[in-house]
Amino acid sequence: MTDTYRHKGLRKRLVDALRKRGIADEAVLAAIDAVPRHFFLDKAFEEHAYEDKPFPIGHEQTISQPYTVAYMTALLEVKRGERVLEIGTGSGYQAAVLAAMGARVFTVERQEALYLHARALLAETGFSSVRCFFKDGARGLPEYAPYHKIIVTAGAPVVPEPLKEQLAVGGLLIIPVGEDVQYMYRIERLSETEYKEEVLDAFRFVPFLEGVQKKKGDKA
Ligand code: SAH
Repeated sequence: MTDTYRHKGLRKRLVDALRKRGIADEAVLAAIDAVPRHFFLDKAFEEHAYEDKPFPIGHEQTISQPYTVAYMTALLEVKRGERVLEIGTGSGYQAAVLAAMGARVFTVERQEALYLHARALLAETGFSSVRCFFKDGARGLPEYAPYHKIIVTAGAPVVPEPLKEQLAVGGLLIIPVGEDVQYMYRIERLSETEYKEEVLDAFRFVPFLEGVQKKKGDKA
């Protein structure tokens, strides 16, 4: 896979467009600039990789729109070395953006085919520090908890309790909540028992689903 000057140029334009749309966090913009989004898309969409649009990645899932990735990443306030849990690996793009910000990334996917694809892709494209897991993210990833930050990239009907419990005190959970339309929730863990919840803008995500889905051809 190659990242040409043309790709780099298109990426600069995408970064400018995101800045115009209100993304002000320069560390986030630098990470978007650093990650070749076309690596994470099907060849068929490569020409469009730097448009501010979501695209299908197979298995009825989508790679989120760059604006959404930038918006959520800015809300996470990621600092170098922090442990970040992502639920919904999908293409692996959001995980790569978090890794580019210096986070220690753990990412969980419920569809085996996507998990296998993203894991191989992240390793191939220089993001081998990202640790990928094939699991139902509704239970979080207790083995490596607590996390400074948790990000959910599918629309959940409710906030899964285990995710709140796996946050470090002072940590943040960013999760879109709702059925047809989702509102972005910013949940901060204030102490062992207290959380502060804020409801932000509306988005549309693919649904957060229960259980895991084995690759077709494999027995469930
Ligand atoms: N962050 C991804 C966005 C992928 S779309 C990217 O950058 O490309 C959301 C993903 O969440 C889908 O791949 C979907 O299969 C996954 N997902 C939905 N519910 C889940 C759950 N309970 N546990 C883990 N992954 C889940």
